[in-house]
Amino acid sequence: MKLMAKPEFKVVVAGAGIAGLFMTEKLKRAGIDFTVFEKSDEVGGTWRDNTYPGLFVDVLSRQYEFPFQPNYDWSRKYAPGAEIQTYIKKVASDRGLRRFIRFKEEIVEARFAEDRWHLRTAKGEAVVADVFIAATGFLHKPLYPDISGRNSFAGPAFHSARWDHSIPYPGKRWGVIGGGASGIQITEALAWERCDVTQFIRRAQWVHIRENPRSTLLERLLLRLPLAYRLRQRQLWKLIIQADHWRLKPGPQRDAMEREYKNYLNAIKDPGLRRKLTPDYHLGCTRIPKSDRNYYEAVQQPNVHLEFGRIARILPKGVEMTDGRFRELDVLVYATGFDAHGYMRPMTVTGLNGVTIEEVWKTRIYSYGGIALPQFPNLFMLYGPFSPVNNVPVPLGLEHEIGYIMRLIDIARRRRVTVAPTAAATEKFLARLGSAFPDTVWVGCRNWYSDQQGTPILWPLPQEAHKVFFACVDMEDLQLSPATHMD
Ligand SMILES: Cc1cc2nc3c(=O)[nH]c(=O)nc-3n(C[C@H](O)[C@H](O)[C@H](O)COP(=O)(O)OP(=O)(O)OC[C@H]3O[C@@H](n4cnc5c(N)ncnc54)[C@H](O)[C@@H]3O)c2cc1C
Repeated sequence: MKLMAKPEFKVVVAGAGIAGLFMTEKLKRAGIDFTVFEKSDEVGGTWRDNTYPGLFVDVLSRQYEFPFQPNYDWSRKYAPGAEIQTYIKKVASDRGLRRFIRFKEEIVEARFAEDRWHLRTAKGEAVVADVFIAATGFLHKPLYPDISGRNSFAGPAFHSARWDHSIPYPGKRWGVIGGGASGIQITEALAWERCDVTQFIRRAQWVHIRENPRSTLLERLLLRLPLAYRLRQRQLWKLIIQADHWRLKPGPQRDAMEREYKNYLNAIKDPGLRRKLTPDYHLGCTRIPKSDRNYYEAVQQPNVHLEFGRIARILPKGVEMTDGRFRELDVLVYATGFDAHGYMRPMTVTGLNGVTIEEVWKTRIYSYGGIALPQFPNLFMLYGPFSPVNNVPVPLGLEHEIGYIMRLIDIARRRRVTVAPTAAATEKFLARLGSAFPDTVWVGCRNWYSDQQGTPILWPLPQEAHKVFFACVDMEDLQLSPATHMD
């Protein structure tokens, strides 16, 4: 779809992670006048910030590509994080996307007035846009635990997303706080580096022990043949659809999956340790950490120690558990996750009649389709609340969302209107999702997907339904208002 933009119609995007870059490519192709503001000095978001040892992508590398730029040269089935970042940077350069991005520029305020978005940067610059797109990510604000004495630790201490590469691995006693995906990958990597590492685990996780073979030259060459490439893409698509089912509905597939994961635990020889590492909730309820170098083998090495339970306090020389046990440490890593429900905040966002995002999300976080909100015309989010964060590869989810947003931008521009979902359409969307949750794996345990009411803020329907939802614009769901400044 080629849109001929009027010069005065302007789009601003906040964020140049994969979502912002995907949007950039589409806006560029459409000939729209737009600017991207990125608060950091490089593209990549998650993959720029997370450089910890052991980071690998958890979906197949081939599923983590922009559809407009295949990569035939992934080194492994599941690429290391650094390789994903190299690929993202290459896409930005190859496609000429950098010239649209203003780096080290954070949008701190967005206010809708007189049918346009009035934005303010951290440096105090005012910018006006017809459409504002928040591509600000859902896992980018590090979360630190509320543990007494946290700032008293004498050695280096940092979050997993702020890895300090000046510290050599050997010769140090490492402490890793956190039993989730990052904590497991870091512990495993340090363990095989023969470091002395203690992992502090409050709750055991199900861990996917998987093979991660190198790609062969033949595989790479075959992908370059158009027919072989298309065939491979079709296989991937099938895989994605099949992989969905067990998470969404109970049944034999779910039971078989849980049996498979229990089998992984058999690698642990000591029954006591095996019991402690066996989760007390069903598979899939929390994000499943992926282990490429057998975490369960790693934690049985003599240089690895596991501390289960609650930490009482952090002291200058180490960590004390509530039962009084003390671990002396030299380096402390907080693998304690992210503020998954922050979205574009701390940016202040004010919509119609002075209503703010803080107010509308005060009691529950919601959206229409993960991309828009009633009362916030011409504001679009990429991977906002209820986007598929677990069961659909992110680039694929983005393809659906961005295709739809481009159509809404076209409507806004051609008809000289502002566009927002109606409250009724939003409630209908939420009710549809709400009725699907009880069957899914994400209910019944505490996890970072869920809000304070226990509703998982993700997409609980089949992958295919996501595609269908965004396939065509239902005008009945939208409220269009004249944009008077365009007359
Ligand atoms: C450790 C880790 C591992 C992960 N592994 C996987 C995986 O294996 N598979 C998978 O599918 N997903 C994974 N994810 C999820 C991952 O976040 C998404 O796949 C994807 O990278 C999100 O892209 P994004 O562009 O939406 O957000 P981000 O990558 O978070 O990018 C957001 C960008 O917006 C910028 N920004 C934020 N606020 C502002 C502002 N106000 N003004 C200007 N700029 C702003 C940020 O600096 C950042 O560059 C992982 C996440 C983490 C944290």
